[in-house]
Amino acid sequence: MTAIPTLANFIDNAFVAADASTETLAVTTPHTGAVIAHVPLSSASEVDAAVRSAKQAFPSWSQQTFKARASVLLRLLTLLQAHASELAELIVREHGKTLAEAHGDVAKGLETLEYAASLPQLASGHVQQVSGGVTCRDERIPLGVVCGIVPFNFPLMVPFWTIPLALGMGNTYVLKPSEKCPLTMLRVAELASQVLPPGVLNLVNGGGRVAELLVDHADVRAVAFVGSSGVAKKVHQRASAQGKRVVALGGAKNHLVALPDCDVEMAARDIVVSFTGCAGQRCMAASVLLVVGEQPELLRRVVERAAQLVPGSSGSLAMGPVIDQAAHDRITQAITHAAQTDQATVLLDGRTSTAFTAQQAEHGGFWLGPTVLQHSGSADQAMRQEIFGPVLSVLQCRDLDHALEVENSSMHGNAACVYTRSGALAEYFERRVGAAMVGVNVGVPVPREPFSFGGTGESRFGYGDITGDAAIEFFSFRRKVTTKWGEPSEKSWMS
Ligand code: NAD
Repeated sequence: MTAIPTLANFIDNAFVAADASTETLAVTTPHTGAVIAHVPLSSASEVDAAVRSAKQAFPSWSQQTFKARASVLLRLLTLLQAHASELAELIVREHGKTLAEAHGDVAKGLETLEYAASLPQLASGHVQQVSGGVTCRDERIPLGVVCGIVPFNFPLMVPFWTIPLALGMGNTYVLKPSEKCPLTMLRVAELASQVLPPGVLNLVNGGGRVAELLVDHADVRAVAFVGSSGVAKKVHQRASAQGKRVVALGGAKNHLVALPDCDVEMAARDIVVSFTGCAGQRCMAASVLLVVGEQPELLRRVVERAAQLVPGSSGSLAMGPVIDQAAHDRITQAITHAAQTDQATVLLDGRTSTAFTAQQAEHGGFWLGPTVLQHSGSADQAMRQEIFGPVLSVLQCRDLDHALEVENSSMHGNAACVYTRSGALAEYFERRVGAAMVGVNVGVPVPREPFSFGGTGESRFGYGDITGDAAIEFFSFRRKVTTKWGEPSEKSWMS
């Protein structure tokens, strides 16, 4: 029997074991619930060691040219591409995604790396003669040590929303991975040490307290947070109160609107992929379907397709487990509340799905089939609160304006999508919808680089988005330099 490892931190390009007295948490594999590692809840001095390492690395890393840093990022890209299968397998193991989803997690993360490698072309400043003999130029200057605090649901992609851009801009970085899925990024940090100078990327393990220590550390200049809305709000307040730059992405409640003219087959397929992909644990997953008018055929196909999903890690109909017992309990309670208290009709019940309950009985783990709930009002709890599992709430709406009214009353504002064949109706929707990331016939409308990612309302606290050109701004400040050389011109207002 192999011993269960206690994970180390990764500081200064080396594994650093946590102090023997450090408390640990169990990391489980959602497939069986078996413990696969113990993650240390690092101490203040361990957090400090990671920040000090990043601070020490900053002067020489930040003084390199954009081109020199980009060439390091390109080497990192090649290295991680060569290890993509190993990383995807780690994600399957610690998160429970299917293998195809895990490969997607890696590929999307590496896209950000690819984008950051083009910073020499993207991040140059402006220069202009503004008056006789007087020139203004600006340069993007890195901030210093920045940190990232990330959720469990994309062990590689979400950390990579910020790491490549932050490093490419010349910052050094301390990551606190999710305590539920720490293995993937620990391996990435180890691989990255082959190409990054010591201290440029450090990883310190732990939970909320460790994250707070990082946010509070005097040498951490900026905080990029992704997680649930309640924590995002707290992190935003905490960092802002200390005058730090912070972007904090929170939870979501994404609405899909199906208009009567939609392509029923395409919409049904897409809706099911959106609410069941990664077992519903995506901040861009559909959680509410607003059906405009009577569309029994669409609903029938959604339920039929969702019912075909089977528990597993491979195959086009496979759906993985949810992350842990607490998530399993929370999701089943939300379904029960919808059915009993809010009198929703359960069109498909994941709690009693034969395939998923059999899987759980045989192997343990946290399996739950897809659920479809039909509501009679938009005030039901499941219509408003994030469930973060494979659950779709359906509400029939009178017309598009009614659907928009329901969507726009959500406190979240991450994503929304309309299914229609009409360009005019799609445009009507786009112009009135409150969510910040909008899909037309695309149920998971994730903007790809160079477009930036970020919601509004309770889905994002702070200013600016977390990826794309917005992140170039976030991870730098502009130094404005005004120069005058030689004889001052008579016309110069600066003289
Ligand atoms: P979570 O909020 O429980 O944890 C996220 C991170 O915050 C973890 O690293 C955790 O250790 C840390 N944390 C916990 N308490 C903290 C505190 N007091 N101060 C600072 N950090 C603290 O979220 P989760 O369960 O890991 O992930 C799921 C949530 O993340 C969902 O709500 C989902 O919608 C959201 N999410 C949002 C986006 C987005 O782009 N908006 C993307 C992915 C996930």
